[in-house]
Amino acid sequence: MCGVFGYLGQNSSLGEVVEGLKKMEYRGYDSWGMAFPLEDKIETFKSLDSLQSTNSEQFDLSVEFALGHTRWATHGAVNLTNCHPHSSLCGRFALVHNGVVENFQQLKSELIEQGIGFSSDTDSEVILRLLEKQLTQQASRSYRKALSSVFKQLKGHNTLVVIAVDKQLLLGIRNGSPLVAGRTGKDVFLASDCNAFASQTRDCLLLEEKQMIICEAQQVCLYDLELDSYVDCNWQVLDNEIEMPDKQDFPHFMLKEISEQWRTVTQATQVDTELMEELVASIRKPNHVYITGAGAAYFIGEQIGWMLRNLAKVKVTCVPAYESQDYLPHMQQGDVLLAISQSGETADTLRFIQSAKQQGILIASVVNMQGAMMSRLSDFAFYSYAGPEICVLSTKSGTSQLVFGYLLAAQFENRLTQAKAEIERLPSILSRYLDQDSQQDFIEIADSIKGEHLYLLGRGEYLAAAKIGALNIKEASYVHAEAFSAGELKHGVIALIEKGTPVICFADDKNQDYMTAIASEVKARGAYVIGIGESNNVAFDKWINLPSLESNLSIVSNIIPCQLLAYFLAVSKEIDPDRPRNLAKSVTVI
Ligand code: GLU
Repeated sequence: MCGVFGYLGQNSSLGEVVEGLKKMEYRGYDSWGMAFPLEDKIETFKSLDSLQSTNSEQFDLSVEFALGHTRWATHGAVNLTNCHPHSSLCGRFALVHNGVVENFQQLKSELIEQGIGFSSDTDSEVILRLLEKQLTQQASRSYRKALSSVFKQLKGHNTLVVIAVDKQLLLGIRNGSPLVAGRTGKDVFLASDCNAFASQTRDCLLLEEKQMIICEAQQVCLYDLELDSYVDCNWQVLDNEIEMPDKQDFPHFMLKEISEQWRTVTQATQVDTELMEELVASIRKPNHVYITGAGAAYFIGEQIGWMLRNLAKVKVTCVPAYESQDYLPHMQQGDVLLAISQSGETADTLRFIQSAKQQGILIASVVNMQGAMMSRLSDFAFYSYAGPEICVLSTKSGTSQLVFGYLLAAQFENRLTQAKAEIERLPSILSRYLDQDSQQDFIEIADSIKGEHLYLLGRGEYLAAAKIGALNIKEASYVHAEAFSAGELKHGVIALIEKGTPVICFADDKNQDYMTAIASEVKARGAYVIGIGESNNVAFDKWINLPSLESNLSIVSNIIPCQLLAYFLAVSKEIDPDRPRNLAKSVTVI
């Protein structure tokens, strides 16, 4: 989380920094700020306002270097004091930070004992104070040496960018979360994401872990903090299309991204089929397959797990990335870990991958952002091709990852061509389902949902859909929604049902008898039942008509009704679903 930005060049306006930060607001929107030189000192600007509604043209000051940051707070409240950048007491340098200094309490106590004061509650300020101390101890005032020595004292994952006015310098260290550089003939940019400077250049350098980039007016060099030596810079031109997302006529990115799914599901069939064949060959050996992810991506992983177990007859264990410690001791060389992530930078998932890799586990991943760390760590790196997803909630990236799972399962059954053809037929059905008339039904249903709690019941491939739905509803509308296996009802869950409790039952044709019995049982206790399925039933107070789909294709589309419900619930409560409170799209801290 947090987006970092740095610039060094021959005059850019501060407005360009604002524009760069706007592209990274998905990484955190608690506050944002900039640091820039003004008469030989660093000046800062900090704000708690929304970046999107900030007019960058008002920042017309021309600068030769600058820092920017958009924050997702981990340590210290959301206020201007804790907002980055943090600048030194001498006013000669400033830094921005993405990560968590895990040993910050110990470091802070030691510094306080030495008489060093603090002005914020952030862990990031510890880095600033350590750097100040280190620089005063050095006659040469070498920022490279001082920053590497400070970095070595930090525990955890810490990506940093620093500007120094006394040396006209821009430095960055990548550790745990991404840092990329971009260059034109005269300017250098550092950012968490290439999109931040894509309007200026596609000439990029993707830093590796524990590398420091040192940018001066005449040169850019790369220093490997583990090797303790300079290494070559491998600049590359990004060839993928960087689409600049725009809401078009939609009121929110969330609705736009939900509505695009009729198209994005087929884009996902661009998957590298040769690589998929190789992955299938590895899994076919008597190996165990683990699937992991965090949040919605984990539930997408569970759904893919269902497909591999039931369609491809593969033994699969799904492990939430944050619970990997219990599973790692059982994983053996040759096993396959399939990781699901929208950003490809999810800290919990990356940590699992890194530990598994050390044990000789083969890593496969499906991510939506090209060039992500997860892909670079993978033996089999796949993309979901859903295009940029701006809303914090995963919608189209999730359905595209489900298409990947569907194709992977089909590859086991040697029916990949047929499965691709089935996916190609999805758009015409989904576009009907996603049109404005159908959305009217969701608006009415969302308006009819009252109360603080909502339960979702599903079975088989609808259980993961119910879990994704519950998460979408919590994130977008702050309604307490919980998903349960329908079978759990009589073993406890039914005690939660009282008059008017909204219960969503996934009653698809395959599970119809079972699920309509469940729906009747909760209705008998006064529940307000919303049925999702191909057919209506007397037990339903409201019915969401699932389109009838051939084969097992509903497994791709069965998460869409709850996306729409979550969206319209948020809108009815006047919540901005693109920026729900306390969340960020890319979770790069643990
Ligand atoms: N730990 C820092 C803060 O709270 C940075 C947070 C982040 O990278 O998400 O300000």
